[in-house]
Amino acid sequence: MPLHLQTPLLHSRPLSLRTGKNVWLKLDALQPVGSFKLRGIGAACEAHAAAGKTRFVSSSGGNAGIAVAYAGRQLGIPVTVVVPETATAHARRLIEQEGASLIVHGASWQEANERALSLLDADTAFIHPFDDPMLWSGHASLIDEVVQAGIAFDAVVVAVGGGGLLSGVVEGLRRNGLADLPVIAVETHGADSLAQAMQAGQRVVLPSIASVATSLGAKQVCAQAFELSRSHDIRSQVVTDRAALEACLQFLQDHRLLVEPACGAALAALYDGASTALAPFQSPLVVVCGGATATHEQLQTWLRAQPDAAS
Ligand SMILES: *Cc1c(COP(=O)(O)O)cnc(C)c1O
Repeated sequence: MPLHLQTPLLHSRPLSLRTGKNVWLKLDALQPVGSFKLRGIGAACEAHAAAGKTRFVSSSGGNAGIAVAYAGRQLGIPVTVVVPETATAHARRLIEQEGASLIVHGASWQEANERALSLLDADTAFIHPFDDPMLWSGHASLIDEVVQAGIAFDAVVVAVGGGGLLSGVVEGLRRNGLADLPVIAVETHGADSLAQAMQAGQRVVLPSIASVATSLGAKQVCAQAFELSRSHDIRSQVVTDRAALEACLQFLQDHRLLVEPACGAALAALYDGASTALAPFQSPLVVVCGGATATHEQLQTWLRAQPDAAS
């Protein structure tokens, strides 16, 4: 039995009416940890446990850390998550709630990650948040489920951070005979490490992350995601933080699910009428990747702090 759930697949009436398309939603926001991350991380943790590892370490103050903590608790394996001082109180609580020991260290993720790496020994598995083939094949189960449901879809809309989810989606398409199906890869301005790499023709390192979509905040996408952008039909779209936040609030209204701006970015590709990447497609599948770390109050505070749409 895998640690993740088979999630509902909905035909969205509100989004279909709004866009004039058949919009399908794969609701991974309903995973027990609130995000798709459990698919790949659960599979990786199970493999490490079977290989005899007796401790898991993560350096993610976001959904990856929560998923490792959950997987460890389910498997009876102790977990240590090292997060930087910037990790929100809410995210810390979610990690501790899963029974993991939380170490707060350093001003940025780099420092927390160095501390996490210093804790490793032969019995400990380090669980990377996105750059691991075990994660990608775990994430690919999302596409397996959609294909098994037998719906017709002609594009996949997916948010991109470090590119683990994107790599899993493409792996899932390929292993289900859908290697030609286009993927719309959505990022926010300020966290657009894939868009910039595709433009430059090589991977780039962003100087900093300047977006409220913190779960998309990888300064560099993994090599696999960049390589897939050359071998698969991947179309990049970059949305504003405002569009991502407004999509979150509209989605809450339409489907009663609270998701992070990282997921709102993918939803903005549909809610934002100015979006052109989707124009050629009739039946998009949206990966509702979820995210547990943003409260409703936080979304509203972020939205109030956005510059005016016109300026
Ligand atoms: C991790 C995460 C992403 C991005 O996934 P990557 O594998 O890093 O590209 C998007 N949305 C949510 C909610 C996440 O937790």
